[in-house]
Amino acid sequence: MTRGLVVALDGPASSGKSSVGAAAAARLGYRFCDTGLLYRAVTWLATRRGIGEGDPAALVRLVDEVELLSDEVGRLAHVAIDGEDATADVRGPEVDAAVSAISRVPELRAALLQRQRRLVDGGRIIMAGRDIGTVVLPDADLKLFLDASAEERARRRAEERGLDPAGPEAAEILAELRRRDELDSTRVVAPLRAAPDAIRLRTDGNAFEASVELVVDAIREREAGVAPTATTDAKEELPSNAPRSARRPARSARRPIEPTPIATRLNAVITIGSFVMRVIARIFTRVRIEGDVTAIPAAGGVLIAANHASNADPVLIGAFLNPRLGRPLNWLGKREVFDWPVLSWLARHGGVHPVDRGAADVEAFRSAMRILEAGHVLAVFPEGTRSPDGRLQAAKDGVAVLALRSGALVVPIGVGDSDRLWPKGRRMPRFTKSVTVRIGTPFVLAEALAAEDPVAAADRRLAKTAGTALIMRRIAALLPERQRGAYAD
Ligand code: C5P
Repeated sequence: MTRGLVVALDGPASSGKSSVGAAAAARLGYRFCDTGLLYRAVTWLATRRGIGEGDPAALVRLVDEVELLSDEVGRLAHVAIDGEDATADVRGPEVDAAVSAISRVPELRAALLQRQRRLVDGGRIIMAGRDIGTVVLPDADLKLFLDASAEERARRRAEERGLDPAGPEAAEILAELRRRDELDSTRVVAPLRAAPDAIRLRTDGNAFEASVELVVDAIREREAGVAPTATTDAKEELPSNAPRSARRPARSARRPIEPTPIATRLNAVITIGSFVMRVIARIFTRVRIEGDVTAIPAAGGVLIAANHASNADPVLIGAFLNPRLGRPLNWLGKREVFDWPVLSWLARHGGVHPVDRGAADVEAFRSAMRILEAGHVLAVFPEGTRSPDGRLQAAKDGVAVLALRSGALVVPIGVGDSDRLWPKGRRMPRFTKSVTVRIGTPFVLAEALAAEDPVAAADRRLAKTAGTALIMRRIAALLPERQRGAYAD
C-alpha cells in the first residue's frame, strides 16, 4: 500500500466535490473532509441568532459550537451543531442564500483555517472546498479542481432535489449558483480559484461514477509517482523467458489491447529514446526549435496540435520537446504498433496510446480526454494523416472538440520542411539543410473563440468547426508559406 496522499479538491458550487470526493475516498480507503459544511454550519447558526457579516467577533465565537462528524470509514461528511447532526439543515436553500456572504469574513476564515489544517495529520485524506489548494493546503501532494458548466451543475442539483430541470425552481437554482460562484470567486480573502498547479477535471456530461473514476485515477497516478516502489505499468511486461512466439501475437488478431498508462514523468525509456532520436535526426539535418517553450506550463492539461507532413514529425516534436518541457508528451498511435514486442514495449512506456483506426474513434477520444483531464500533455495531428505534399490539409473536428471539452491549453506547433527531410512514400529520410519546429503562443480555445467569433463560440456545432479552423490557422501561421495549404489565409 502506498503512503497515501493529502489531496486538495476545490471547485465551484455543486461541482460534485462532496459527493464525488466522498465516493472516491471510500474507493481508495482515504479519509474525506467537506469543509463547506463548516461554513454552512456557522451560517446556519448565524441566521438563527441574527448575526450578520458585520459582526466578525460574534461569528468567530460560533466556530466552537460546530463540529465535523466522522462516519465509520473516517469520512467527515456530516456536521454537528451543539452535538446534534445538522447536515440536512445546513444543506438547505436558506443556508445556500446566506453562506457566501458569511464566508467572506476574513476573521471567520482565519478561525477555521487551523482547524482544517489539523485534520490532514497522517495524510491519506481528500479535503474539499474552495481555497484548499490555494490557502488551506498549499503543499498538498495533489490538487484537483472539479468543474462543470453552471447549467450542468444546476441541472444536477435540481435532479437531486427531485425538481423538474426545465421548471422555474431549476431556473432559480441556476441563478443562485451563479450568484454564489460570483461572490466566492470575487471575495478578497481566499477566493474560489484553481491553484496554478491544480489538475482541472471537467465533469460536463459525465455520469456520477465517471467523475469518481476521474478523481480516483488522478490520485492513483500521483500515488504511483510518489511511492518509490509502485509502478502502474510493470505488470504489462511479458516475462523475459517467455517464448518468442508467445511474445509476438498474430498481426491479424483483433484482441483487445491493454490501455497504455499515461506518461506523467520523463522515465528512462522516454529520456534515452528521445536522446537516441535526437542523435539520429541530427545526422540528417539541423533541427531548429523556435518560439517560447517556457510559455508551456509545467503542470495542467496541454494539447499540442501540429501539422503532419512526415514520419519525422513525432520524432522532431517529441524527442526535442520532452527535455525542454521537463515532462513527457502522450500520443495516440496505430494499434498495429502494439503487435510487435519491442515496439509495443517502447510504445507503452513512451506514452503512446493505441487507437484502432478501423473502428469508431470513441476509445481514442476517451483516452485523449483522460490524459488532458488528468492534467498531462497530449500531442495530436489534427489532419489525421500525413500530407502528401507537405501542405496543410483540411483538419478533422476532433481536435477542437477535445480542446473545448477539456478546457486544456492548446499549443500550436508548425513543423517546417519535415516533408523535405522525409517525404511521404520514401523508406528513409534524406539529408536536408534544416527543419524548424516552431512553437506558437498557448491559448484556451473557448476564450480565443469567444474573442474572435462570439456567435460561433455560443453554438456547440458552430464552435467545433470554427474552433478547428482557428487552431489550424494558428498552426499555419507558424509554417513556411508554401506549407500553409488549406489554411493559407
Ligand atoms: O461546498 P459548499 O457548496 O457546501 O460550500 C458552501 C459555501 O461555503 C461556499 O459557497 C463558500 O462560500 C463557502 N466555502 C468557502 N471555503 C471553503 C468551503 C466552502 O468559502 N473551503
